[in-house]
Amino acid sequence: MISENRHEREIADGLWRKCERCDELIYAKDLKANQQVCPECKFHHRVFSVERIEQLIDEGSWSPIDTQISPQDPLRFRDRKAYSDRIRETQAKTKLIDGVQTGLGQIGGEPAALGVMDFRFMGGSMGSVVGEKLTRLIERATADKLPAIIVCSSGGARMQEGMLSLMQMAKISAALERHRESRLLYIPVLTHPTTGGVTASFAMLGDIILAEPEATIGFAGRRVVEQTVREKLPDDFQTAEYLLKHGFVDTIVPRTQLKQSLAQLIRLHRPVNKVAIAARPHAAVAASSEKQPEKQVAPVLRNTDSLES
Ligand SMILES: [Zn+2]
Repeated sequence: MISENRHEREIADGLWRKCERCDELIYAKDLKANQQVCPECKFHHRVFSVERIEQLIDEGSWSPIDTQISPQDPLRFRDRKAYSDRIRETQAKTKLIDGVQTGLGQIGGEPAALGVMDFRFMGGSMGSVVGEKLTRLIERATADKLPAIIVCSSGGARMQEGMLSLMQMAKISAALERHRESRLLYIPVLTHPTTGGVTASFAMLGDIILAEPEATIGFAGRRVVEQTVREKLPDDFQTAEYLLKHGFVDTIVPRTQLKQSLAQLIRLHRPVNKVAIAARPHAAVAASSEKQPEKQVAPVLRNTDSLES
């Protein structure tokens, strides 16, 4: 009884965490060191933007961009609460300005442009700020010839901004298309949950789409889909595993291997340095005569190619 009380006190103090699935008590520091993945049952607990950036970006290499863009309330929207109050309260609680952090940094030594959505900020909803920051991130990646990585976690569009939130889908998608035309790599990482307008736009436009184990990924909620199609849906409907089976996701990567996998994918798809080859004509000729272009030019796989053809 005494030890139980002590445990409860220590959970309250934040020293211990109880696994949400298997109820195992885990020392909070050990859970953090294992990237919030339960060492017993491998359940992936939620990770928010600050910790996710720490997990993915090499220490000391992160430089955030567009940190001053803050949300407005052009519609003077009010539900149970005024939208402007809701923004202020959420900002105070999360210490974030809006639902995404963007910046440049290195992932396993590879330079990349990274955006990380934060579910704590009004359910990771995509309003004008999320849309604008992601668009600018992708434009920066295009200009600097960098791969773009976006860690998605969102309930969808931000209804308090109405139309203005919906148009972000098209805006981000257009920026991604210009990034694609420059033959640069884009990888969305779908984490729990990725739904609504985010799934309907940039989450599904990746050259390679990664997902975390058991993440919920979908557009409309299960109940809405069931009512619309009038069918009982399978239990694993809208899980990362179900989407992998049906070709919407390219691979599922456990969080503890995510950084390494991203670094490897970026390395494999690094653009060929044309200037360097032109300056060394003999080397280029030698390479092509040996018929080993794969070593230098890794083709960028694009989902859209197979859809179009
Ligand atoms: Zn567990």
